[in-house]
Amino acid sequence: MRAIRRFTVRPVLPEPLSPLGDLVMNLRWSWDPATQDLFEAVDPETWERVGHDPVRLLGEVPSERLAALTSDPAFGDRLREAADDLGQYLTGDRWYQGLGADVPKQIAYFSPEFGISAVLPQYSGGLGILAGDHLKAASDLGVPLVGVGLMYRHGYFVQSLSAEGWQQERYPLVDPDGLPLQLLRESSGKAARVTVGLPDGRTLNAQIWVAQVGRIPLLLLDSGVEENAPLERDVTDRLYGGGTEHRLLQEMLLGIGGVRALRVYARIQGTPAPEVFHTNEGHAGFLGLERIREYVEDRGLDFSSALEITRAGTVFTTHTPVPAGIDRFGRDLIEQHLGGDNAAEGVPIDRVLALGAEDYEGGDPGVFNMAVMGLRLAQRANGVSKLHGEVSRGMFSGLWPGFDVTEVPIASVTNGVHAPTWVAREMGELEARTNGNDVSGDWDVADQLPENELWHIKGLLRAQLVAVARRRLRESWLARGASEAELGWIDSALDPNVLTIGFARRVPSYKRLTLMLGDIPRLKALLLSSERPIQILIAGKSHPADDGGKKLIQEIVRFCDDPEVRHRIVFLPDYDMGLAHPLVAGCDVWLNNPLRPYEACGTSGMKAALNGGLNLSIRDGWWDEWFDGENGWAIPSADGVQDADRRDVLEANALYDLIEGQVVPRFYDRDADGLPRRWVEMMRHTLGSLGPKVLASRMLHDYVRKLYAPSALASRALNDSYDGARALAGWKARVREAWPSVRVDHVESSGVDDHAELGMTVSFRAFVSLGALTPADVDVQVLHGRVDEADTLRDPAVVSLEPAETYEAGRCRFEGDVKLDRTGPFGYTIRILPKNAQLASSAELGLVSWPAETPGITNGDLR
Ligand SMILES: *Cc1c(COP(=O)(O)O)cnc(C)c1O
Repeated sequence: MRAIRRFTVRPVLPEPLSPLGDLVMNLRWSWDPATQDLFEAVDPETWERVGHDPVRLLGEVPSERLAALTSDPAFGDRLREAADDLGQYLTGDRWYQGLGADVPKQIAYFSPEFGISAVLPQYSGGLGILAGDHLKAASDLGVPLVGVGLMYRHGYFVQSLSAEGWQQERYPLVDPDGLPLQLLRESSGKAARVTVGLPDGRTLNAQIWVAQVGRIPLLLLDSGVEENAPLERDVTDRLYGGGTEHRLLQEMLLGIGGVRALRVYARIQGTPAPEVFHTNEGHAGFLGLERIREYVEDRGLDFSSALEITRAGTVFTTHTPVPAGIDRFGRDLIEQHLGGDNAAEGVPIDRVLALGAEDYEGGDPGVFNMAVMGLRLAQRANGVSKLHGEVSRGMFSGLWPGFDVTEVPIASVTNGVHAPTWVAREMGELEARTNGNDVSGDWDVADQLPENELWHIKGLLRAQLVAVARRRLRESWLARGASEAELGWIDSALDPNVLTIGFARRVPSYKRLTLMLGDIPRLKALLLSSERPIQILIAGKSHPADDGGKKLIQEIVRFCDDPEVRHRIVFLPDYDMGLAHPLVAGCDVWLNNPLRPYEACGTSGMKAALNGGLNLSIRDGWWDEWFDGENGWAIPSADGVQDADRRDVLEANALYDLIEGQVVPRFYDRDADGLPRRWVEMMRHTLGSLGPKVLASRMLHDYVRKLYAPSALASRALNDSYDGARALAGWKARVREAWPSVRVDHVESSGVDDHAELGMTVSFRAFVSLGALTPADVDVQVLHGRVDEADTLRDPAVVSLEPAETYEAGRCRFEGDVKLDRTGPFGYTIRILPKNAQLASSAELGLVSWPAETPGITNGDLR
């Protein structure tokens, strides 16, 4: 019979053990080995059986065992020590507390997924893991962040394989009562609620679970409450499941409901209101609409002023360079959900629609684009690696017509990974031994690492990985219908001494899971070499609706099933954080072969690098930035080749060439002591060169300095009685209206009449019409520098001219000098931009006025 309702009964710990409860409920245990050891000591056998899940541990450990621990003084000491350590971690001053008053008092971080630990399956891949690492690093650094997400009752799916190698999905129920989550309650004890209005008078209700991630609270909204109608109850059923409308409801709950949840949390806990709102990808973009609504309805601002304050305090991070990966809805669907009887008084639907409109060349007028809205609702935006920043500027350049792509106001902060989460314990201990104390994870002692020890530890981690892989392989074959009797070969599948290559990630087509199958005889020769074989471990989930991805998995699985190679190449189902840990730690080489430039950043290679793994990757994402010729290998990418199949063949061949010619010899060339010296040298160089860069703590430093702090200051300047916001909104309206009559009338230059020499000074006089604007409203700039044969300026330098005289009818003269400091072909042009101290970028309004023709390119070479 089926239960109509289920709940999990939480154990009551005997009083002396009650600190255990606190240790379990704070997810800091997930990156603190000492706390994990303590949990293991509670009952080693149960700890293993429950898959290192401490909530389950407490639920399943026999009560006699708990009773015995109560009177075990040694355990009592350890428990107290761990509890004290957590207490100190949660309260002491850290890096952020030394930054003074110019940084935000509170930052809200919104994401559709969070990967904190394998026991909390609220993530599908890189975006979620990044969000989890962001919270953990913020916690370590004392950055006052609060996370906002959704609590999916079935999380993401569990992957298994059919006998034919086809991906199967299961969605086991995730019971919040069995997780380290606490329901947010009013002081009356009643569960706190947020509601979001829906069309036709419907209401979406949600309760709020709080996960404590070290110092950081993470609020997870859950629509599985009884007062919801069945449809609304299912809004948070699955991560990335369901159709378009389902996704829209999820995003309304995350964005609008998320801001409301923050308000409820701050009221109950007495915490400060966030000054900066960071949206991790466009899915949470509706948070900006809710903040505008608050300013209009609660504080009496007009929409445009509210928009300015909201923008000032918002940071938008875009994560996909794949146009098909951008989140878009039909305009009609948005109109139906945020207009009509569900329109908020202060947020008229036409203003909403305008924010997400693709009203630029090549845009689709029927579409509401969440990334475009993200950019319009955030004064600061960034991509997630240098290359991705560049690609994003190109991708969204339509929003800033008239500007060079390099000036599109999208910066970049390269992702990082949380070292305490991803560095294998043995590696962390080696670092600590070498530098005498702490596990900073930045490997500043890399060149002092004892070679023998480093190699020995890699061997241990490789052996651990082989053991994990055999166990998973056996489980998978049994689930696919094999009998134990057929599986004897698994005991000797894989080899702890063979060069081990890992490839694990989600399976969208651009990641090219099957590139390695490009030349099967060549691959087999590598796998089956009697002297110097390689072995490959593969894992990854395909989105359930992506049959193309499932076909790729099937292709790989069928290859791996072949008795000829199955001991050297394996597909391990159900890639999650639990599998990622041994993989990134145990592999010698981490392979990544995306179609450049579609990998926004990629982070698994960073995790491998922190464990001394060498990257073998296409120069995409982070690897384009930090490959230095010695810390791994760059697979040459056939960027210009249009024919996709041919490009794959070229790149697959380049991959085999590298493995055969460089990777294999370097791994197997041993000295008299059996040590691959040159390999170990590369491991040390990888740790030393990448260690400090790939850290999430470095990423947090960057976000705080480049984005959060400027955003807080901008937002404070406008929040002060709102006069600043009104003034800025008024100024923007005035500038937009006047702009059609702003133009460069005439430019004169003097100083280099018929010959130009290095060191000479050119004086400029620009005569401009400003219509209703004043000289203070604009920046008149000379752009000068080298020109190519077509008179195009290359990387011009920019000099602002000073207002010199105002004539009648809005005409003015601006003047200034430029010193010629480079030889060769030289040219210049003039432009006018809006100018205001509150702008984060002079391209912010997308307004620029160029001369009708580029005047006065000087001819000839400068000497
Ligand atoms: C790190 C990680 C990812 C992201 O890997 P990419 O290299 O960015 O694709 C995905 N899934 C899991 C389980 C991870 O640990």
